[in-house]
Amino acid sequence: MTRPNEMRALAKTEPAEGLDMIRAPVPEISHDDVLIRINKTGICGTDIHIWNWDDWAQRTVPVPLITGHEFAGEIVEMGRDVEGLSLGQRCSGEGHLIGKTSRQSRAGKFHLDPETRGIGVNEQGAFAEYLRLPAFNVVPLPDSIDDEIGAILDPLGNAVHTALSFDLVGEDVLVTGAGPIGIMAAAVARHVGARHVVITDVNADRLALAARVADVVPVNVAEEDLAAVIPSLKMKQGFDVGLEMSGNQAALDQMVETMTMGGRIALLGIPPGKSPVDWSRIVFKAITIKGVYGREIFETWYKMIAMLENGLDVRAVITHRFSVDDFRRGFDEMRAGHTGKVVLDWT
Ligand SMILES: [Zn+2]
Repeated sequence: MTRPNEMRALAKTEPAEGLDMIRAPVPEISHDDVLIRINKTGICGTDIHIWNWDDWAQRTVPVPLITGHEFAGEIVEMGRDVEGLSLGQRCSGEGHLIGKTSRQSRAGKFHLDPETRGIGVNEQGAFAEYLRLPAFNVVPLPDSIDDEIGAILDPLGNAVHTALSFDLVGEDVLVTGAGPIGIMAAAVARHVGARHVVITDVNADRLALAARVADVVPVNVAEEDLAAVIPSLKMKQGFDVGLEMSGNQAALDQMVETMTMGGRIALLGIPPGKSPVDWSRIVFKAITIKGVYGREIFETWYKMIAMLENGLDVRAVITHRFSVDDFRRGFDEMRAGHTGKVVLDWT
């Protein structure tokens, strides 16, 4: 391609609330990188933390930084050592940049590498017309997966990683938290053959969206007693598998209370600080708990693309689409809590 000198990008330019549209140099790539022209990006909860410049963001994000990590685009330049990819290849990619020296990486457990750095969080991100990415991180997209779905594979990957933590076939599954990832996790649970999938929240709009996206039982725990739902579904004991996606202390507590003996819980939601837990309940119920971070590189990507090509449909979780010129509206809508996924168009 004839390489432009400059590109538009959304960046944190000063240690304060908000993001700015800037002009930045098009990234130079190294011998094992590709340059991706970005077509669509998703706004993540992480981006809202960065916009709001909360304590976590202040501790984590260097300034200035181009933000964003959920993207789809196409390869327009390749380093000389890149193999197995081609110019024009449509792609998304894993935003966690891993090291090669830790015990975990050398064992092939890339998602557990403690040296991981995130694009749009620690390194230059994808809210830009062009993104430099190691070729290793590229995930080619089949024609059946369009750019707006490609732009939400990162959060769908969180949902898939969490949902597939335990065998769900024939199981009764409780999902706490009906944000976009919780809703997609519920859809995955349904897709892989769970018996009942119950999703809880206190936000009626989100629960209505969950019911539109997947065949799930929405329960507003501000108005309804979760324990009363169990007999109404002809469940004899409690939930077999819990997927905690809210980070809410009361939700986790309710989950532990309504699990069956020997139940299994995967935790993706991040509590705001130390969270008191009644560990005796967990011991006496013989509950297994697993913390979930990111996506398995690249097994989660493989499974998720296979499921999307085989009937998993999460498109309805995208509720708002904006041109990147209107990025402020996208962030405003999302910060107001009115949205599912918000996708920005860079083309
Ligand atoms: Zn994300």
